[in-house]
Amino acid sequence: MAGEPQADCLFCKIVTREVPADVVRETETTVAFRDINPQAPIHVLVIPKVHYPHAAALAAAEPQLAADVLREAGEVAAEEKMESYRMVFNTGSGAGQTVFHAHAHVLGGRGMQWPPG
Ligand code: AMP
Ligand code: ZN
Repeated sequence: MAGEPQADCLFCKIVTREVPADVVRETETTVAFRDINPQAPIHVLVIPKVHYPHAAALAAAEPQLAADVLREAGEVAAEEKMESYRMVFNTGSGAGQTVFHAHAHVLGGRGMQWPPG
């Protein structure tokens, strides 16, 4: 169910520290940690502590929590001293989503191309 911990969800396990992660920030409602397979010199994931399958489901159910994720992405960028960065929400396997717990990718530390692949 939306918002409930999912036993088989990797990011729910990162929230509870069952799975270790390189956590850079944590708030009451969010966790930010470095991506294990970085696609840029700086690549941090920001997740809500509660489980939603993707960003739109999160925003529909808990708009304040979606705002928390966006704000934390900005805080990560500021801490990492990124003036420019890219925030990405892959949604659906066709768009490259592999972990079905809502997360923002925060990427920077290099130039970014547009359009993305
Ligand atoms: P997505 O493909 O948009 O669902 O993003 C999932 C991201 O999670 C990928 O960029 C993975 O590299 C990353 N990832 C997978 N397992 C871990 C982990 N244990 N710790 C940190 N990042 C992870
Ligand atoms: Zn989860």
